[in-house]
Amino acid sequence: MKISRRVFLATGTAMAAVTAGQLGKVRRSVAQGPTILVQNPKDVLNLYSARHYDTDQSLYDSFTQKTGIKVNLVEAKADALLERIKSEGANSPADVFITVDAGRLWRATQDDIFLPINSPTLTAAVPANLRDAEGRWYGLSKRARVIMYNKDKVNPSELSSYEELTGSQWKGRIAVRSSSNIYNQSLVGSLISAYGDQKTEEWVRGFVANFARPPEGNDRAQIRAAAAGVSDLAIANTYYLPRFAKSNDPAEREVFEKVGVFFPNQRDRGTHVNISGGGVLKTAPNQEGAVKFLEHLVSPEAQEIFAKGNSEYPVVANVPLDPIVESFGQFKEDQLSASVFGAKNAEALKVMDRGGWK
Ligand code: FE
Repeated sequence: MKISRRVFLATGTAMAAVTAGQLGKVRRSVAQGPTILVQNPKDVLNLYSARHYDTDQSLYDSFTQKTGIKVNLVEAKADALLERIKSEGANSPADVFITVDAGRLWRATQDDIFLPINSPTLTAAVPANLRDAEGRWYGLSKRARVIMYNKDKVNPSELSSYEELTGSQWKGRIAVRSSSNIYNQSLVGSLISAYGDQKTEEWVRGFVANFARPPEGNDRAQIRAAAAGVSDLAIANTYYLPRFAKSNDPAEREVFEKVGVFFPNQRDRGTHVNISGGGVLKTAPNQEGAVKFLEHLVSPEAQEIFAKGNSEYPVVANVPLDPIVESFGQFKEDQLSASVFGAKNAEALKVMDRGGWK
């Protein structure tokens, strides 16, 4: 029964349902010809991933080495992959869906695409606040959304919390991307959890009043703005800064030299931490392989690839960090469940709109 379903990955109705433009970048590790025909679904793991990081292939290669199961990667934006999974329905070849941000994982649970998994390995490896209570998705890596500062212009002793970024001393000094960005929606979701809608809206208004410029660009653009003196502070995810240090371009390495990392809210609830994560699809042809794959991704070996390859924080304890990330120092993490701030994304966007965050 399942054999015929595999053909859809490269040809036929599944591909036809979504245009090339919607799919964006598509890569497959074993697809040489126009059609993939796999005799035994247990030999192959079809992964739909919205992670947009170059080093992930080594995560998949290490799984193949360990198990002999080949990984077919379909990489695209999260919303396009979700739409594709829904339109493929019962015929979807996808076994696992991986994405970044708890907000998107929550959205995937609303679309009811995940199979609840009860794996002692996953439950033991992933802290309870970084996985779905029903086992539908599991966090695989962490990232802190921190305040980065221009070392020439800001003494870190002036910084303390997200809340205090509304102070008049920061007027015209903050760079952050737009409210449409899901990392920002999750951060604001965590503030809503702490303070409720109304107080968070007031915070947004004060925060926006201190912007150095209208929001533009991605997290890296905010870091560049702080380094160039366009702003003095930038809000960004931790893994982006080490990329500047590792660049072959001296100008990029100079950006790294100019910018420091500050972990906010160390005296109270801790710095906002988000995840990338994934789950097994209800319609997965290779459910057994899919569970094995997630279990592999929380193994010490794979966790080290997340940490060293993409400079993320591992979800598993005692995995060595990237040396640059380690140099940022230890910090207290906000323990708020990713499913809680993930669920608050839509509410957060409304609060940001009302507060004038473009
Ligand atoms: Fe990112």
